[in-house]
Amino acid sequence: MIRVSVIGAQGRMGASVVGAVEAADDMELAKKIGMDDDIAAVTPGNTDVAVEFTVPTASLANVLKLVAQGVNVVVGTTGWTDEKMAQVKAALAKAPKAGQSVFIAPNFAISAVLADKFAAQAAKYFTSAEVIELHHPDKVDAPSGTAIHTAQAIAKARADAGSAPMPDGTQGEAASRGQVVDGVHVHAVRLQGLNAHEEVLLGNTGEQLVIRADSFDRASFMPGVLLAVRNIASGSHPGLTVGLDSFLDL
Ligand code: NAP
Repeated sequence: MIRVSVIGAQGRMGASVVGAVEAADDMELAKKIGMDDDIAAVTPGNTDVAVEFTVPTASLANVLKLVAQGVNVVVGTTGWTDEKMAQVKAALAKAPKAGQSVFIAPNFAISAVLADKFAAQAAKYFTSAEVIELHHPDKVDAPSGTAIHTAQAIAKARADAGSAPMPDGTQGEAASRGQVVDGVHVHAVRLQGLNAHEEVLLGNTGEQLVIRADSFDRASFMPGVLLAVRNIASGSHPGLTVGLDSFLDL
């Protein structure tokens, strides 16, 4: 049995993880840590993997404490920068246990990770590519981090293939052409009733390919979280790993 503790256990994602761990045959719930609990209670004596879903302002400190306590961590909280990840790497280099792991996934939805990958694979075969992300109106950032990542992946694939710049005859003030990420236009829709959705449009003369990922519910993230917990518990990924595609046979 993999012993899993959940940090941010009273939050929306944390509560879903608690339920998913309790429902998994190969896992047992160790500690549930909320705002008022001491994270020092999570130790290698009771936990194989801690899953962290809190807030961007708290996540780094939580991860550093867990690493120093000898605990492996799977992180879903957003807001990670290269500088924060460098701090995690430095902490892992001094970690008390050999082979300790931290895994960070900007997106645990398998549909979103695959859409990203497929868009990058398809990009070099098309003249044009644009990304549209659609979310619930409470989302604070726009465009989403996932959409920016998709655009960067498309741009890199096109650059590697030597693709020509995309045709765009827009002139003057082009306020409705979205944010341009490495030359790829990214559009953000905020609409009541939506959850998290992304569409990649790829166009050639006379044809279009649309790749779309829809996350209707937080349940969509749980298979990815459990996949990460299993991989991290197995010890196969010591150090810092970023992105669920690391565990998918793509
Ligand atoms: P949420 O409902 O606001 O939950 C956050 C929880 O963390 C709250 O219960 C909060 O407690 C608690 N918390 C804050 N600081 C803490 C600390 N220092 N120690 C322990 N608990 C602490 O938010 P959510 O919807 O679950 O989202 C959590 C994070 O996951 C966000 O960053 C979100 O963007 C991200 N997310 C990632 C994915 C992915 O696929 N990677 C998917 C969905 C969401 P209080 O309420 O008492 O402050």
